Amino acid sequence: MSHDTRIRFDYSPAITTVTARPVRWRLLPLMMFPLLGGALVYGLTQNPLMHTARESAAPATDAPDLASLPGEKLDVIVQRHDTLDRIFRQFKLDQTDLAAILGLPGARQALSQIRPGDKLTLVHEDGTVHALNRRISETEILSVTRADSGFAAEIITTPVEFRATHAYGTIDSSLFVAARAAGVNPETILQLANDIFGWEIDFVLDIRTGDRFHLVYEQKFRDGQYLGDARILAAEFVNAGERHHAVHYASADGQIDGYFTPDGRSMRRQFLRAPLDFRRVSSNFNPNRRHPILNSIRAHQGVDYAAPTGTSIKASGDGRVSFAGVKGGYGKVITLEHGGGISTLYGHLSGFARGLRPGQRVKQGDTIGYVGSTGAATGPHLHYEYRVNGIHRNPRTVRLPDAAPIPADYLVDFQSKAAALIAQLEQGRGTAVATSEDGQGRR
Ligand SMILES: [Zn+2]
Repeated sequence: MSHDTRIRFDYSPAITTVTARPVRWRLLPLMMFPLLGGALVYGLTQNPLMHTARESAAPATDAPDLASLPGEKLDVIVQRHDTLDRIFRQFKLDQTDLAAILGLPGARQALSQIRPGDKLTLVHEDGTVHALNRRISETEILSVTRADSGFAAEIITTPVEFRATHAYGTIDSSLFVAARAAGVNPETILQLANDIFGWEIDFVLDIRTGDRFHLVYEQKFRDGQYLGDARILAAEFVNAGERHHAVHYASADGQIDGYFTPDGRSMRRQFLRAPLDFRRVSSNFNPNRRHPILNSIRAHQGVDYAAPTGTSIKASGDGRVSFAGVKGGYGKVITLEHGGGISTLYGHLSGFARGLRPGQRVKQGDTIGYVGSTGAATGPHLHYEYRVNGIHRNPRTVRLPDAAPIPADYLVDFQSKAAALIAQLEQGRGTAVATSEDGQGRR
C-alpha cells in the first residue's frame, strides 16, 4: 500500500444505528444461521441447564442456551415507538405470557425501558413463549425461561475483559492515517489528542512528518470477541523531535482520574493549545506544505488556523463571553474573559453557537462558534488571539497556567503505578521496533 496517497479520513462513531430500516422487524430465524445454531448447541451439550457455564468454548452470543429449546427463535431489534405489547402482538405471541413475565421479580424492571436498537431474543412455539433474553448492560443479560411451575428470571453475568495492547505509528500524512495504519480506532486517537496532549501540542499546526506515537491502551472483549477500545493507559508522542509522556491515573477513592506526566503534573492546562476541532483540519492537512494564509504573529497579533468553513471552534478555557457580534476586520467575532487578566478572541466566524450571548459562562472545550471568512479574511480560517492584561501574547508559545499536580497524599501510589505503566510502554517499544524492522512497520 502506498503511503503517499492522500486519504481523506471519514470520521464515524463506533455505534451504528438501526432505526432507519425499511423493514419494520428484523427477523432472524435460527435456521438461517446453521453455523451459529450449531455452535450454540455445541455450547449447550456441555451443560444444558447451568447458565454460569459461560466460560466454555461457545462463541459470544446475546442469546445463551436458547437453541436447546423447541420452537422458533426470533431476534427482534426494537424500533422507535415500540412497546413489549406491540412486539408481542406483532409476532402473535401470548399476551398472558407477557403479563406473567412482567410479574417476575427483576424482570419488570429489566424490561421496563426498551429503546430503539435494543435486541430481544425470544423462543416461542405457536405463540407460546418458552424464553426471552435481553442484554441489560455491557455485562448482564436478563434470561427468562419457562419451567414446569411457570416462568423464571435470572441475570446472567457476561464479564467484559480489558486487555492492554500496544500501538505504534509514524506520521506521514496525518495522525488519523497513521493511526489507521497502526490499527488504532479513531476514537482512541481523539483521546490521545483531546484528552491527553491537547494542552501541550497544537495538533493543527505543530504535527510534522516523522512525528511518532506509541500507546498502551485497553481493548474490551466479551467471550473472546472484540467489543471496542477503552482507555489509553500510557502514551508517548514525539513531536518535532520532542518527547512527551503521559500516564493514566485513577485513585482508589475516585478523587483523581486523569492523565499526568510521569512525575505527576496534570496534562490539563487552563487553556487548550489549539481551540478548534482538529479532525476536519487534519483531514486535509499536509505537513510538507506551509499553510498559505499563516500570517506572521507580529503582523496581526494572532494565530490563523486554516480550516474548512463550519469547523467547530472551542472555548480554549473556562470563562465568560464578553463579546459576540460583528466588529470591523474581525467580522463575526467572540471574546472570552477568563479571569487573571487573560482574554481570548476568535475571529472571522461563519456563525455563533446557538444561544451564545454576552455574559454567558462557558467551559473549556465548549463549542462557541464555527470557522468562516467574515471580515477581512482571504479564506476560511480561525483568527485566534490570547491577551494577558490587554497585551497580545503568542498563543502557540505562551506558557499556559498549569492545572493541579498530584496531591501529596496520592504521590506514592501514583509513582508506583506510573512506573509500572512507563515500564509497559518501554517494553512494548522493543516489540514495536522489531515489528517495524520486519517490514510490517511504517518506516
Ligand atoms: Zn488572522
